[in-house]
Amino acid sequence: MKDVYDVIVIGGGPAGCTVAALVAEAGPSVLLVDRDVFPRFHIGESLMPEVYWPLKRLGLLEQMKERGFVRKLSVQFVSASGKESQPFFFPEHDPRECSRTWQVERAEFDKMMWDNAVAKGAEAYDGTRVLDVLFEGERAVGVRLKRGEEEARDVRAKVVVDATGLQALLANRLGLREDDPELKKVAIWSYFRGAARDPGDHGGGTIILHTQKRQSWFWFIPLKEDITSIGVVGDRDYLVRGRGTPEEVFEEELAICPALQRRLENAERIEKYFVAKEFSYSTRQQAGDGWVLVGDALGFIDPIYSSGVFFALKSGEMAADTIVAALREGDTSAKRLGAWTDEFFSATRWIRKLVDAYYTNGFSFGHFLKMHPEHRGNLTDLLIGRIFHPEAGEIFDEMDPELESVRRRAAAQG
Ligand SMILES: Cc1cc2nc3c(=O)[nH]c(=O)nc-3n(C[C@H](O)[C@H](O)[C@H](O)COP(=O)(O)OP(=O)(O)OC[C@H]3O[C@@H](n4cnc5c(N)ncnc54)[C@H](O)[C@@H]3O)c2cc1C
Repeated sequence: MKDVYDVIVIGGGPAGCTVAALVAEAGPSVLLVDRDVFPRFHIGESLMPEVYWPLKRLGLLEQMKERGFVRKLSVQFVSASGKESQPFFFPEHDPRECSRTWQVERAEFDKMMWDNAVAKGAEAYDGTRVLDVLFEGERAVGVRLKRGEEEARDVRAKVVVDATGLQALLANRLGLREDDPELKKVAIWSYFRGAARDPGDHGGGTIILHTQKRQSWFWFIPLKEDITSIGVVGDRDYLVRGRGTPEEVFEEELAICPALQRRLENAERIEKYFVAKEFSYSTRQQAGDGWVLVGDALGFIDPIYSSGVFFALKSGEMAADTIVAALREGDTSAKRLGAWTDEFFSATRWIRKLVDAYYTNGFSFGHFLKMHPEHRGNLTDLLIGRIFHPEAGEIFDEMDPELESVRRRAAAQG
């Protein structure tokens, strides 16, 4: 490891590896570090089809096809009453290859991303924890890191990229993190072998199932070797306060989700229960002199539409292009390094609005689409992740007033 690089990327998840690969490919020297040792377990298995473009640019499409990940062609919603929506079937909406995607084991996917960053020229060290970002005045000038049992050491760079995921190293250090009071959610999940999948093309699709009281929902994500990732998400106050162990809570929620129970009749659990708490937040500032945030470190919405990995790849790509230009121009100011974030947030807000709609009691996507069938295509595009174009949010011309009136009615009823 050298003492100085052009760019240091902290965190080797999808966001960090994207930045590292694309910047290194363009020429600047890149140090990529992660405290974990790859391959390592991570949640976030269901991809959005729009990951196609960043993966194509990273040169990873062929590998994705060869690895035998489950193909995800659809998303389906099951209502609290057990009514199954017609699946949003991506190839029917758009037959191009880019409308199909994958359900991935993140250990394998992230290792592939890491190896790719190395192949593109990044110098990468896993098992290496960044203890702190070094500042001179307002400017980030490097990091203090510790590799295994070695002594901590300082490494300097013109740009420090925080891709530490929900650890949000810089946002926490600088007090930039803003938790979302509307989305204080908890997730409990595990892995099952032998869960019943739909036959044919929908077999690999993601299913989102509301429980009967609408206070929680389950994800059903088919993976390789007949394993299915199944998790329940609900408000912290509902799901964990004064309740039992994660296993007991999971079982209680399963008991009020008959459509999922049916799918699990012949399944066996093959893993422990995992818990993630209060993962939704935003950041007040996304770049400063010599530093920039990407991926979850930049903010995280909610896992319901499986947007996290796509946002990680996309923010990584946009940040990488900006960093390369900034280094070329010799301007690594906050303004220059953050030049991409307005475009990013004006696109990702559509997914945020869909999340809010899903959690609006009394609002039903099924009912809305019955009234406005012309928006089914737009909604499918949003589920695909097509948000970086001017018409992406057209559906909200009609949905916003509908949501407003549902909320007003709810408020009037107390
Ligand atoms: C319950 C739940 C379900 C989800 N389901 C989905 C889904 O189905 N689909 C989807 O797309 N997304 C999903 N997500 C979101 C997804 O997991 C993330 O959006 C995605 O992993 C973000 O990638 P990233 O590269 O920003 O961060 P990460 O993948 O978290 O990578 C961050 C890396 O930084 C490293 N790191 C942290 N601190 C340090 C440090 N100090 N020094 C060195 N390294 C450090 C970590 O070890 C880690 O490897 C889900 C999230 C949750 C909480």
